[in-house]
Amino acid sequence: MEQIDSLLEYKAIWIVSVAITLLVLERIFPKARPLAGARLRTLGQNVMRLAKNFGLVLLNAGLSPLLVIPISAMAATHALGWRPEWWTGGAGLIADLIILDCWIYWWHRANHELPFLWRFHEIHHLDEFLDASSALRFHFGEVAISAVVRAGVIWLLDVPLSSVVVFEICVLTMALFHHSNVAFPVWFERPLSKVLVTPSIHWVHHHAIRADTDSNYANIMSVWDIVFGSRSATRRWRDMPIGVERRHDESLIGLLTRPFRYR
Ligand SMILES: [Zn+2]
Repeated sequence: MEQIDSLLEYKAIWIVSVAITLLVLERIFPKARPLAGARLRTLGQNVMRLAKNFGLVLLNAGLSPLLVIPISAMAATHALGWRPEWWTGGAGLIADLIILDCWIYWWHRANHELPFLWRFHEIHHLDEFLDASSALRFHFGEVAISAVVRAGVIWLLDVPLSSVVVFEICVLTMALFHHSNVAFPVWFERPLSKVLVTPSIHWVHHHAIRADTDSNYANIMSVWDIVFGSRSATRRWRDMPIGVERRHDESLIGLLTRPFRYR
């Protein structure tokens, strides 16, 4: 448990450092221009957007030690216990990361295809601009439901808690990276996108055209969308409209209550 505590401490320091670095970089070297968007036209609207995203991030940061970590720890300690000796150590960790990355692909896809899950996941997509803050903007309901489902996977596959924490570090780092608005050079991003999900792939997932929203689901490795036939042919362009087709972003209270409202 001591090892897990220091891993969690490392995770918090690492994620905050990556988030701050990207938030600064994307303001110095931005690709898309926030004020060029049809929906976010004034500086005030942009400041309000950031405040709203950080409000949702803070709620989720509070939920993590209360629910996400305890439920994952419980699933790992009560797991089925069938894991063979060879499925441990460094190679075991790599195998766990690949399996969990494949699981998160299908879980993300389910969040788009099942209307009940989309009610919560839509809050993430209603953001009308993308930057590192979008990576952590989720409804607490989605965070809670996904923690419960993930606990089932951990329990079933007997995944050690250390693998779960390393996976979370990778998922959050990649999410911060591929939502960010940093103008990465083409020579860096193009070859990288063959292996990992880069902003050029993930921004298309946030294009305010439903066919593109329902594509490019991968989180860490970009290969899943090719393997499972969900890669969009659309290429990201500088000021592409971001959000959900025929929907608009809401206030913080509006976003928190939206999944429970009758539509
Ligand atoms: Zn999505």
